[in-house]
Amino acid sequence: MLQVVLDRLPEHRSGKNVTYAIRDAALGAFSVFYMQSPSFLAYQEQMQLNTGHNNGVSLFELKGIPSDNQIRNLLDPLDPEQLFPMFAEVTSQLEESGELEAFRDYRDNLLIVLDGTEYFSSQEIHCDNCSHRTHGDKTTYFHAVITPVMVAPGNSRVISLEPEFIVPQDGHEKQDCERAATKRWIEQYGARYAAFKATLLGDDLYCNQPLCEQVLEKKLNFIFVCKPDSHPELYQMVAFLDANGQVEQFSERIWKGKYAEIRTYRFVNTVPLRAGADALKVNWCELTIQNETTKKITYRNAWATQHEISHATVKAIVQAGRTRWKVENENNNVLKTKGYHFEHNFGHGSQHLAAFLLTLNLLAFLFHTVLDLTDAKYKLLREKLRVRKTFFDDLRALTRYMYFESWEHLMDFMIANLKLPPPVDTG
Ligand SMILES: [Zn+2]
Repeated sequence: MLQVVLDRLPEHRSGKNVTYAIRDAALGAFSVFYMQSPSFLAYQEQMQLNTGHNNGVSLFELKGIPSDNQIRNLLDPLDPEQLFPMFAEVTSQLEESGELEAFRDYRDNLLIVLDGTEYFSSQEIHCDNCSHRTHGDKTTYFHAVITPVMVAPGNSRVISLEPEFIVPQDGHEKQDCERAATKRWIEQYGARYAAFKATLLGDDLYCNQPLCEQVLEKKLNFIFVCKPDSHPELYQMVAFLDANGQVEQFSERIWKGKYAEIRTYRFVNTVPLRAGADALKVNWCELTIQNETTKKITYRNAWATQHEISHATVKAIVQAGRTRWKVENENNNVLKTKGYHFEHNFGHGSQHLAAFLLTLNLLAFLFHTVLDLTDAKYKLLREKLRVRKTFFDDLRALTRYMYFESWEHLMDFMIANLKLPPPVDTG
């Protein structure tokens, strides 16, 4: 699937100096992210010189090994959106094969977390598409992006969806912001994910009337964090109703092994999200967790949703709302800290390079997740080499010193040498 998308990338060069195909530049960068190895291409070039074959050709179907400079120059002019069909293709295939069922939660909805992250920051290096902020006489250039992911409570995997880049508005100082980028994302992809049935999750930043109305227009659902500071009218109404005994409340005691915690749920339906007669009516719920012994409050958060809240549903809605925190742990952190090199020796480029590489990086992350869901041998190896660093250290070392004819060959070698029982092929 990736080959097909990369073969469609437009040729932007004129003249005859086209030693490397654009496809190879993109595939080369992808292989570096996929293998989590900044030196993967250099090692394969060395292997080619020494032995006449290399794993870049056999595992990634590279036709030639481009240098970091060539990758930068060939990819910089390309719009990353040209890679986006991959995300839709993967989610469609996961839906067809039934794998998305594991991601269905409240009322059979897919939970989609919206969250922004900065993936580049510098005071020196910048490009045409950098955002910037100024403190005194210092300017910091940065790139930010919304990276939506599907999540499910109790499932450590996340499925990356199409990103939305936060880019400066045409020629003016006015900086694009997370909300505007989110609106663009919902406009473009909302209907598609609504067809799957989906609930959007997000922090307080998303919990405002224009965005919630847009979500509902697209026939999506939402559970957004709803803080008192940014919703004074809603909280006045909750306080008023509470004083009249109209806010539902119940508590439960959960034994945690060494101590007990008291979880208190409060909820009320049909309260105004903001001031004014045209205020959208939302349903509100809150969870407070208190240590029974010390009386210390260890957690408190509240959400606004259009799902109707009752004694029967409040716990499931709160659980879905809390799942949004997974995105910090599972996606952006993995991308930042676990070896998906955001800032790599390809440099920054002057046009789209940073965003294009980020998209390839998200795809590498997505491919690992999909393999872990669908490929018996990959899954077996990831279970055995539980620490992700160990798994990728082994891949790096093996592919540096040895030649493998295919992924099958590589994985069979690892399974045999780890003395694992080969998985039954269900494919
Ligand atoms: Zn830039």
